[in-house]
Amino acid sequence: MPNVEYRGMNLIVPENDSEWREYVKTAREHKLVMRKCAACGLLRYPPSHGCPWCGDLGWSWQEVSGKGTIHSYEIVVQAIQPGFRDWAPYPVVLVELDEQRGSPTPDEGLRMIANLVKPDFTPEREEHVAIGKRVRVLFQDLSPEIALPQFTLTDEPPQGRVWRLA
Ligand SMILES: [Zn+2]
Repeated sequence: MPNVEYRGMNLIVPENDSEWREYVKTAREHKLVMRKCAACGLLRYPPSHGCPWCGDLGWSWQEVSGKGTIHSYEIVVQAIQPGFRDWAPYPVVLVELDEQRGSPTPDEGLRMIANLVKPDFTPEREEHVAIGKRVRVLFQDLSPEIALPQFTLTDEPPQGRVWRLA
């Protein structure tokens, strides 16, 4: 897989990286997939080798809806990566996907970190970000082989209380 540039940075997904290669390739087909444990059936993210819940090494890819709720977020004020300096301040969200909410314990779920962007892939405004707001995945195509999953706000009713960090 050739290297891809994203905001001035080289994205490298080695051919032998079994954990991320299929993930980004599938994202390029605009499908979001998670690893599903063959033993306990739980989904996990990131796509690690073993199941974090039961330790089993068997798994298969499972497509998920890409819909979720902002579980938490941060506003990046000092961008460490030069490519993001002109974005700051910009939001990074921890999204709890609709699949597997409250599992395997009531406080857990299937959560992933991504940028919160507008449909044109520019950063969402800080004042529009809040915990409880609904989001859906967007795929930003970077090359014929790689796309990055990002999230964008939807107009669905929020999940639970909506609040912002002070
Ligand atoms: Zn398991």
